[in-house]
Amino acid sequence: MPRIAIVDNEKLKDIQQKRYIASICPVNRTGNECIKVEEDGKLTIDEHLCTGCGICPKAAPNAIKIINLPEELTTKPIHRYGENKFVLYSVPTPTVGKVTGILGVNGIGKSTAIKVLASVITPNFGDWTMHEAGYDSLISYFKGTEAQGFFEKLRDKQIKVAYKPQQVDLIPKTTKGKVIDLLKKVDEKNALKKISGELELNEILNNEISEISGGELQRVAIAATVLKEANLYIFDEPTSYLDIKQRIRISKFIKSLINEDSSVLVVEHDLIILDYIAELVHLMYGKEDAYGIVSGVKPVRNGINVYLSGYIKEENVRFRDSTIKFAEKPPVKKKHAKEVITSWKEVEKKLGNFELKAHSGSIHKDEIIGILGENGIGKTTFVKILAGVLKEDKGGISQKIRVSYKPQYLEVSDQLVVDALKTAFQKYENQIIHPLNIVPLSLKPLNELSGGELQKVAIAHCLQHDADLYLLDEPSAYLDSEQRLVLSKVIRDFIEHKGASALIVDHDLLFVDYISDKLIVFEGKPAVSGSVAGPFEMEEGMNKFLKELGITLRRDPETNRPRVNKLDSRLDREQKEKGRHYYT
Ligand code: SF4
Repeated sequence: MPRIAIVDNEKLKDIQQKRYIASICPVNRTGNECIKVEEDGKLTIDEHLCTGCGICPKAAPNAIKIINLPEELTTKPIHRYGENKFVLYSVPTPTVGKVTGILGVNGIGKSTAIKVLASVITPNFGDWTMHEAGYDSLISYFKGTEAQGFFEKLRDKQIKVAYKPQQVDLIPKTTKGKVIDLLKKVDEKNALKKISGELELNEILNNEISEISGGELQRVAIAATVLKEANLYIFDEPTSYLDIKQRIRISKFIKSLINEDSSVLVVEHDLIILDYIAELVHLMYGKEDAYGIVSGVKPVRNGINVYLSGYIKEENVRFRDSTIKFAEKPPVKKKHAKEVITSWKEVEKKLGNFELKAHSGSIHKDEIIGILGENGIGKTTFVKILAGVLKEDKGGISQKIRVSYKPQYLEVSDQLVVDALKTAFQKYENQIIHPLNIVPLSLKPLNELSGGELQKVAIAHCLQHDADLYLLDEPSAYLDSEQRLVLSKVIRDFIEHKGASALIVDHDLLFVDYISDKLIVFEGKPAVSGSVAGPFEMEEGMNKFLKELGITLRRDPETNRPRVNKLDSRLDREQKEKGRHYYT
């Protein structure tokens, strides 16, 4: 059976530990050098000699992985980052005239694959010692497939690629100056005025890049991409930091880039948005941080359903043990509402020029309430008032309750994960630590975690405290779609187990729909005013919110997952006429 070894030398303590690991390898004991400690102190594993006995990964579970590859995988890799490092086996293929999505968990190589297409990474076909491969090697590698034609056109300059990278928060670290100067530099189409209008950037054009918000940075990065002369646009996670209204707007904008000569590739974790934006989808599967394979292209509805099922029939691959299922919604009303744990009345708060009003509402025990609304209309302010972090100017909160709060922006330090999550490791191993897969992170300092890892730790940190109410501000940010669904279950089980309640502020509509019993809806004008309405039953709250957005949802008959109806389609018109924006 073919296998690969992944070694993270930074997680191996010292030379003694490495020598010890080499000494316990049965292949080494027969006189061969399967595990080697190199002159520079690095531990390497010869994948051809390794028998997959599993002894060394047990000795250093955080640093060594031995992975058996599927028997069917006979193709040569496209790219490997180095000896005993991540390996990618194929790439997605853009289709002219269509938006093609890429769906897969974090660490499976989505960004690597699109960097190959965007010529940011020159593939080495698994031989990291070789010099750069040219287009001709790529063309011969893909002979007889659609990708052959793609790379021929790329070589002949018939395809020009514009690429928006995933981590827009890194832009201020490398680019200084005003937004307008950055956009002027890349404006090959002379369309700055038009695009900045469409992406609502006019008001921030003269702001410093270092001072704009995450959502603004995202839209600036999208503008910088589409201002380039190109016929293949690649967007790596274009909706992170954006609220739902902006996500829908950006989706429409990206779709509008398509014509008979152009194509778009998009990596997206928000399944409702991916479904809305793309016509086709490639699934990526394999083993996180070890290897990634790209599936054949599928129509988007079918592709997302296959992804949820965990099994690709055509390729006979099971990439997840369980199927992700959606329950019928709205949830059955609890017959006896449990006791009220807190309530508010005529709360008002002024912050600079911004004004927040919350009329009246209450939260019951054992309830999860989703909070929906656009950015800048006071969601975080309201959450902070309930948490006692901010004091209201008028009105009041009925009872003083114990609140545990996870903020939207996460602070880091050099504290180790295991120290930050002491209580969770002691009391909630089965409820929090294992399901969120935090054990492999335990010895990492917080400031070395990726965005998704830090998010999971921050959620665990919030849940480990004893509280009556858990307030989680944007818990889905940086998590992939699978982690978001796992997280829903973790929060739901935990709240039930504790007999507590939770408020969840989030922009992923599917996540909010999946986790919530009730909804609070925010309305208002960003940076000017916000008003809090609810909590409502799901149907009433969603109807209110979706009406404001101008979209309707239906249920996929196979999986029950929510899907956005095409604007002005028969269902869209019918549901709007009946005032049923949310499926029932
Ligand atoms: Fe040696 Fe492979 Fe066994 Fe590790 S898994 S101890 S490298 S044979």
